[in-house]
Amino acid sequence: MVKVQLVTGPVEAQSLGRVLMHEHVALATVGLRENYPFLLSSRAEIVDRCVHRIGIVKAAGFDTIVDHTTFDLGRDPALLEEVSRRTGVNIVAATGIWISPPRWFQKRDADEIAQLFIGDLTTGIADTGIRAGVIKCALDRAGLMPAQEQILRAAARAHHATGAPISTHTWAEGRSGESQQRIFAEEGVDLGAVLIGHCGDTEDVGYLRRLLLKGSFIGMDRFGIEDYLSDERRAAVVAALCAEGFANQLMLSQDANSWSDRDLGLPIDPRRRHWHYLNLAERIIPMLRKLGVPSQQIDQMLIDNPRLLFERAHKNGDAVGTGI
Ligand SMILES: [Zn+2]
Repeated sequence: MVKVQLVTGPVEAQSLGRVLMHEHVALATVGLRENYPFLLSSRAEIVDRCVHRIGIVKAAGFDTIVDHTTFDLGRDPALLEEVSRRTGVNIVAATGIWISPPRWFQKRDADEIAQLFIGDLTTGIADTGIRAGVIKCALDRAGLMPAQEQILRAAARAHHATGAPISTHTWAEGRSGESQQRIFAEEGVDLGAVLIGHCGDTEDVGYLRRLLLKGSFIGMDRFGIEDYLSDERRAAVVAALCAEGFANQLMLSQDANSWSDRDLGLPIDPRRRHWHYLNLAERIIPMLRKLGVPSQQIDQMLIDNPRLLFERAHKNGDAVGTGI
C-alpha cells in the first residue's frame, strides 16, 4: 500500500478521497511579521480564518487539499497541522521553491538543494517533525535561468530519493511545461510521476496535448482566476481534452487560499470574484456536466488521478528513508 505523507502523518493513498490538488492555505511574505508586525493581524486570528475557510472545503465534499506553499511563500507547517486537525481536512504540505530562488539558493548546486527537500520529506520541516509530501518547483516569465534549473534538478533528485511526486508552477503562455519535462527526463524521472501545473491558463491545446502525450498529469488548476482566462473558456478546454480521452491525466483545482498578505485590505478584483475554494463545486462541475463531461470522468479527475500520481511517484522513487 502506498502511503501519502499528510501534515498529520501518513495515510494510504486510497483514502485521500476527493482531492483539490493545487491550493494554498496561508500565503505570507517571508520576514514581514518580524519587521512590520503592525501590518498583520495576530497569528491566532489568521489560523481561525484558515480553519473557517478550510471547513468550507470539507462541507463542499472535498477530503484532501495539497498545499503548494513552499517556504519562500511563507510555509507554516504548524499552522497547516492545526488547520487540518480542527477541520478534519487532510493537508499535504510542499517542499521546493517557487519562481524566484531566494539568495541562499542562487549559488548552490542541485545536490545541495535536494538535501534540503529530502530532509523536509523524510525527517520533517525544521524541528516540527511535520513532513512534506510533494515537491514543488517553478518556471515563470523569466524562463529557465541557471538558478531555476538547479531547483528543477534538485526536485528530480529529491523525487528519486523519496518517491514523492513533483508538482510544478508554469507560465503556460511561455510553454514552460516543456522545459520542465525535458529537464526531468534528463534526470531520469518517469514523467507520469509529474504534475505540470497551471496548464488551465491556456487554450493552446497543441501545447497541452504534447505535455499529455509525454505521460504527465496536467493541472487545470486555476478556476476563478478569470483575468488570465475565463472559467467558461477554461471549462471548454477541459471538456475538449476529456472528449479526446485525456480525463485520466487532468487534475482540477483552484490555486485559491484562505489568507494571503498580498491581498490584505485591497478590494477584490471583480475578475476574480469566483476565486475561492467553492468555485469548482458550485460553478465548474455543473459547467463541465453541461459540456458533456460525464460524472465518472469528473470523479476520475478529482479522486483517481491524485491517487495515481502519488502511487506512480512512489513506485518510481527509491523511497529511501521515507518510512512510507
Ligand atoms: Zn499555487
